[in-house]
Amino acid sequence: MSSPTATVSLKQRHALLSSTQQQINLLEAVDLSHLPEQGNFEATLNHHRWEKLTPSKLEIFQINVGKLCNMTCRHCHVDAGPDRKEIMDLATIDACLQALDQTEAHTVDITGGAPELNPHFRYLVEQTVVRGKHVIDRCNLTVLLLPSMKDLPEWFAERGVEIACSLPHFRQPNTDSQRGDGTFEQSIAALRKLNAAGYGKGDPKRKLTLVSNPVGASLSCNQAALLEKMWKEGLMENHNITFDRLIAINNMPISRHLEWLEQSGNLQAYMELLVNSFNPATISGLMCRNTLSVAWDGRLFDCDFNQMLELEIQHPDRKSLHIRDLATELLAQRQIQTGRHCFGCTAGKGSSCGGAIA
Ligand code: SF4
Ligand code: SF4
Repeated sequence: MSSPTATVSLKQRHALLSSTQQQINLLEAVDLSHLPEQGNFEATLNHHRWEKLTPSKLEIFQINVGKLCNMTCRHCHVDAGPDRKEIMDLATIDACLQALDQTEAHTVDITGGAPELNPHFRYLVEQTVVRGKHVIDRCNLTVLLLPSMKDLPEWFAERGVEIACSLPHFRQPNTDSQRGDGTFEQSIAALRKLNAAGYGKGDPKRKLTLVSNPVGASLSCNQAALLEKMWKEGLMENHNITFDRLIAINNMPISRHLEWLEQSGNLQAYMELLVNSFNPATISGLMCRNTLSVAWDGRLFDCDFNQMLELEIQHPDRKSLHIRDLATELLAQRQIQTGRHCFGCTAGKGSSCGGAIA
């Protein structure tokens, strides 16, 4: 099987799949009629006695501060890149902070793009830390090598920010094929900086989490403990690097990964794999149930994947919701928007921003 290689954004190429409706149409067009519930996610939930997917207690406030990124990885579900100029402005960040004060969320998960490239990123982190929230920065590692980010590892360490770093694999070819040549070497250099700032050494205030995703059309490894041990040994022996935790996530069949699946002839097989690997034990822990996802322009979504497919939060009385108008009781009453892409979260051990679910 060929593996994906780094690319440029769908938007920059004016690709057909830069339209989210085209992505949904393509997923719906895959013939899954021979599979349980014909590959219909809602019917699959019903079959397992979940009449509808509803929110549980809000725990994680996830803010996507924009699509701007210094990289253009092949599998990116955001279609991020240097050409994407959509970033959250200060007024929207302030609206997020005001909304956060109304919720009981204990964690603020900051994502992008490369969130650090948003000019208001440090302000957002400062204000969130002041509120006593646990802050996670979803970092692509290479961004830490930019001259303007030189002090960032120590700056994070002083504030107790958890760094969740994406690294597809602990070996160079697997990482570079997905993220671009030279990425692995740069990632190692960035990890060294984080280690030097005290990250990855067991200090709960300086937590370094690595996030791996499979290269190609397979599911993430379901033996988390074994995988983490292998990564820890591999990075220590070859690069003298330590980290605290490894989480493994599935690639979602949306955006640039969807394009790769289609172009490489893997789409049918991947969707069959996801549907056949449906695990009902993942349903109660799906991240859309305890997370609120805010887009760069303040619109609200059930999760970052729905955000990328423009499937806005739906409420019986309101077509869409904006962070300025957040009312927690409205959120609690909503029904989560689902589709075929959701099988990416329920396959195998399940997949979420926090790793496996079941
Ligand atoms: S680093 Fe992350 S956000 Fe940036 S292109 Fe790669 S996957 Fe997308
Ligand atoms: S993509 Fe995953 S997290 Fe998002 S709504 Fe579907 S099941 Fe929930």
